[in-house]
Amino acid sequence: MERTPTGTPVGVDDPYAHADRCDHLTGDGRCRFALEHDGDSGKRRPPSSEGHSPSGSRPEADDSRPSAGDDPAFAAARRADGYDCVVAGDADWADCPHYRSTTDGRECRRCGLDEVRMAHEDARPLLEEHHLSYGGSGGDDDRDDPAHEITVALCRWCHAKVHAGWARIDDDVNPDTEALAAREERRSKEQAEFGFRTAAERDGRDGR
Ligand SMILES: [Zn+2]
Ligand SMILES: [Zn+2]
Repeated sequence: MERTPTGTPVGVDDPYAHADRCDHLTGDGRCRFALEHDGDSGKRRPPSSEGHSPSGSRPEADDSRPSAGDDPAFAAARRADGYDCVVAGDADWADCPHYRSTTDGRECRRCGLDEVRMAHEDARPLLEEHHLSYGGSGGDDDRDDPAHEITVALCRWCHAKVHAGWARIDDDVNPDTEALAAREERRSKEQAEFGFRTAAERDGRDGR
């Protein structure tokens, strides 16, 4: 099983088997990474630059500064290909040097628990971001580590179990009773808060 740099299990054998679409993939199948890092064609403006776009362009400042992930050769190759995603062909996510898939965290990948976000509270979220793979800076280079950052959302309960080594991401389980209780507590809090707010608004409208 894959492990984190500190040696705890990540809960999968093959991170790519659980990886979602690339963060850089646009809705029309193009590579946003290449579009944004393409330094030498018209000052990193998208190819369809029609005259002036006063407010739509990015700040001038970061034009000259090569960012950490800059890869001119990659960007040029993508440009030559109409910025199509590498994986649009026969390639796998693992084949693209800039693949990155991080979670948007709406429900636990293992048990399906969904997040309840409280409007005015910084309580600890029910869901946490769990790394299946850390990308370049993570493991040592002699090993055949995946070179991409891949994360999934796990609820706190599953997350702890996975790192403790007795759960896997693809276990077929229902949410922990504690997890369900925590979610219900949030939901009723949320409803109470909502009810309070609408009552206050109603009273406000009635002039009291
Ligand atoms: Zn869970
Ligand atoms: Zn984790």
